[in-house]
Amino acid sequence: MNPQLRGIGFTSQRTRNRMVDRLISKGISNPQVLEALRRLPRHLFLDEALAHRAYEDTALPIGLGQTLSQPYIVARMTELLMEVSPRRVLEIGTGSGFQCALLACLIPEVYSVERLEPLLHKAQLRLVGLQLKNARVTHADGSIGLKKHAPYDAILLTAAPEHIPETLFDQLQEGGRMILPVGTEQQILSVFDKKGGRMLRQDIEPVHFVPLLPGVSR
Ligand code: SAH
Repeated sequence: MNPQLRGIGFTSQRTRNRMVDRLISKGISNPQVLEALRRLPRHLFLDEALAHRAYEDTALPIGLGQTLSQPYIVARMTELLMEVSPRRVLEIGTGSGFQCALLACLIPEVYSVERLEPLLHKAQLRLVGLQLKNARVTHADGSIGLKKHAPYDAILLTAAPEHIPETLFDQLQEGGRMILPVGTEQQILSVFDKKGGRMLRQDIEPVHFVPLLPGVSR
């Protein structure tokens, strides 16, 4: 665990412990993921007016029509990702930077791309503030992945494509895993494992994410 995450206030630590207890009661069991969530100051990833709601198990707005997912979904996706013990990961949809920060607490090399520059800028400041030096964010259209650092052991999408993005499969290592919400109105959280060059799909549970949109914006 990053030493910067240790010096946290008593009150928010108690609140975070309660959040983690709720996650355990909902079935999250990976001890590393739970420990990282116990330490990571989620309130720093929200605007001040919403910070007091940071540890509720709910999705919260982060500006420009985007949302930070509820802790349960963040934890579930991270737990599914950790099953393949990844060393290099790509996240598509940096948003607030919270999911990226969580990954950086657990995985040696984390890349994250965001299409909206103002969000990316704030996320970057938060990651630097927490000294999570193994996380790197890029202003880019993630629907085409991030070829520069490929192949990845795992790719996580936090925005939902209408169809399964085939281009991302090529950037996934053999034995790697891609985790994403698929669909428009009705979305399903799905896991794709790359085995023998083929993708094996498992559907996990219904979810609701913002759409994956093409292009970048300043
Ligand atoms: N993981 C984020 C969740 C943010 S919501 C967090 O922890 O806060 C999803 C994000 O995906 C939004 O910020 C949205 O702008 C971004 N997004 C949507 N389409 C994208 C694309 N094609 N490339 C990169 N980011 C995208």
